[in-house]
Amino acid sequence: MVNTIWIKEVSRESIDLVGGKAANLGELAKNRFPVPSGFVVTADAWKLFLEKTKIQDEINKILNYLDVEDSNALKEASEKIQNLILSYDMPYEVILDIKKYYKNINNGTGITNLPAKAASLIHVGRDYPFVAVRSSATAEDLPEASFAGQQATYLNVKGEKNIIQAIHQCWASLYTARAIYYRVKNNFDHSKVFIAVVIQKMVNSKKSGIIFTINPVNNKDEMVIDAGFGLGDAIVSGAVSPNTYTVDKTYWSVLDKKIPGQKWMLIKDIKTGRTVKVLLNEEKSKKQVLADEEIIVLAKLAKKIEDHYDFPQDIEYAIEDNRLYIVQTRPVTTKKKVEEIKEEKIEGEVILEGIAASPGIGIGKVKIIKDLNELGEISEGDVLVTKMTSPDMVPIMKKVAAIVTDEGGSNCHAAIVSRELGVPAVVGTQKATEVLKNNSLISVDGTNGKIYSGKIEKSEEKIEEMSIDVETKTKVKVNLDMPEVIDRALKQNPDGVGLVRLEFIIGANKIHPLKYIKEGRRDEYVNILVENLRKIAKPFGSKPVWIRTSDIRSDEYSELDGGYLVEKESNPMMGWHAIRMSLDEEDILKSELKAVRKLREEGISNISVMLPMITHKEQIIRVKEIMDDIGLNCDLGIMVETPAAVETIKSLCETGIKFVSIGSNDLTQFILGVDRNNAKVQGLYDEMHPAVLKEISRVIRKCKEVGVEVSLCGQAGSREEMVRFLVEKGINSISANIDAVGKVRNIVAEEERK
Ligand code: PEP
Ligand code: MG
Repeated sequence: MVNTIWIKEVSRESIDLVGGKAANLGELAKNRFPVPSGFVVTADAWKLFLEKTKIQDEINKILNYLDVEDSNALKEASEKIQNLILSYDMPYEVILDIKKYYKNINNGTGITNLPAKAASLIHVGRDYPFVAVRSSATAEDLPEASFAGQQATYLNVKGEKNIIQAIHQCWASLYTARAIYYRVKNNFDHSKVFIAVVIQKMVNSKKSGIIFTINPVNNKDEMVIDAGFGLGDAIVSGAVSPNTYTVDKTYWSVLDKKIPGQKWMLIKDIKTGRTVKVLLNEEKSKKQVLADEEIIVLAKLAKKIEDHYDFPQDIEYAIEDNRLYIVQTRPVTTKKKVEEIKEEKIEGEVILEGIAASPGIGIGKVKIIKDLNELGEISEGDVLVTKMTSPDMVPIMKKVAAIVTDEGGSNCHAAIVSRELGVPAVVGTQKATEVLKNNSLISVDGTNGKIYSGKIEKSEEKIEEMSIDVETKTKVKVNLDMPEVIDRALKQNPDGVGLVRLEFIIGANKIHPLKYIKEGRRDEYVNILVENLRKIAKPFGSKPVWIRTSDIRSDEYSELDGGYLVEKESNPMMGWHAIRMSLDEEDILKSELKAVRKLREEGISNISVMLPMITHKEQIIRVKEIMDDIGLNCDLGIMVETPAAVETIKSLCETGIKFVSIGSNDLTQFILGVDRNNAKVQGLYDEMHPAVLKEISRVIRKCKEVGVEVSLCGQAGSREEMVRFLVEKGINSISANIDAVGKVRNIVAEEERK
């Protein structure tokens, strides 16, 4: 049993021990091709883990009756197995070996048995380096079965604990849904596919790319080299457009060059080691990445590798400070295979389009809900199709595979809730409830606003998942309205919560606050708020959480118990809701403020109060009086959602508020006169309209002049172009949807660097 071994000690004969990827690297290293130094945690280590934990039987049981075409069952099985693998510790001896090899990775000599004192001398002054941790399954990288990119890769990992964790996760990745699917389709026996893990020193590449030693498109015997700036992952995953050079293999001349323009690159942030996305300026993006001489040097090296294996190769390379490294090589999979895999991706025909409201692809059976009484007919994994969602549907919305509505724009109820829940959604299709057929299978592409008949292959959106953790001056917060999604939110490590909508707590509770007040049950209302808000605010420790007093529109909440107490309005967007209702029915407001006071008394002192739909400064002054009356002493802020608030922002600030948050959803609606819920006019709804931008920049400028913190919490805060605009204007913080926090932080970091 060998748990760990140096890359340069293995060769292609070691494939059963170290997997295809590592065997190839070893073969290269042994033959003096430039490979970054590193080691392999072998398949023996994985087998030892299986032996000690005895989980293979359990894994087989889960897979035995699995229909891999049933994507929900596949996903569930994959999650179950991965959780199972992660729930057991690695064998102790494996951990010790990993630590020993990692310590010695810098010299890469393989000297692991030095006396402790000598070893410690070698390490003096040396920091643990950043490494890449990649899985190397024993059925990977074989001809005819390209398992490329299916198992995990972790870049820029540093420190013993992190490396051990990354290796453990690589093990679990042997059972991703895609890996299981492909093994079944390629007739591999799951229990005969083992996993090894390669740990290699990171190359902090300035340039990188892929070489095909034959042309993969037409099988001609010419070399095709892709080259891009920065780390290779953006290029390998196809997220950016690299340069492409075609090279004649006999006369060593460059036959063709394509330079489409690379818009951004991934680099390593030197301080944190995290991968960061950086925009390229016009000049650099148009630049030829490799000089002609470099292309030829690279091509000749690739030819040597091809000759060594006596088979066309698909090679990944990286260039760091003029040093060239080969980071991977594998046989070129046949052209037929490539096409087959591509064809599998999209099978269905587009049957309906709408507004992309919540990203991702959800596949399931159509369940059309015309009446709330029909909700019981929906089961987990179905696609909810309805005219417009309402708060009563939230419990169901948590379970469905996707949501499709006739009405609404990107800021309607369905859109906001589904984004928060992470459920793919397409809204404003105008005719989903007519066109779609009950019980038919559809795929909802919430990223592109398209609905397909049947099932389409989900493509992995690798780049979206990359979130960075750099310090930014502009804080990036999260909108968080439901305690259930707190874990997803915390994972993104936001700088606080920029908006808590009480309406979601109220909706889940199904009783209109007015009913509590009219029936003298105020305390019940206070308690419900306290219980839910505690769950939201407490995990954020000292990070600020801005709780907005309720904003209950008569149309959206008419189905609540007690909804009948509020008259129907012909124009609910401009009607009796938010601060207007709160001050007409002060007991509602007092209950909400008391809930905040109670939590603060419990020691949750990171919470403040924010008021929606402010139009008059007297509204703020009255709230301050009420706060004094009930003994609530905390920061008070307002939402700027109306042109009136923009025009009078200075005098609103003079009331003593501590912060302002721009509600771009309503502000856009009111500036453009476009109902944000009306699908017919959504073509005109645009937060980037010059009039809206002018008002937003005015609010930021005025708030900064008087020293009031200014933020934005509408949906536009998750839009790239708006984030850039806000950072440029010097906003203090942006509050984004949970799924957008990472992306927004990336953009903020880039913009600040500029
Ligand atoms: C807004 O109007 O931008 C906002 C954040 O509030 P809501 O979406 O709840 O109206
Ligand atoms: Mg609003």
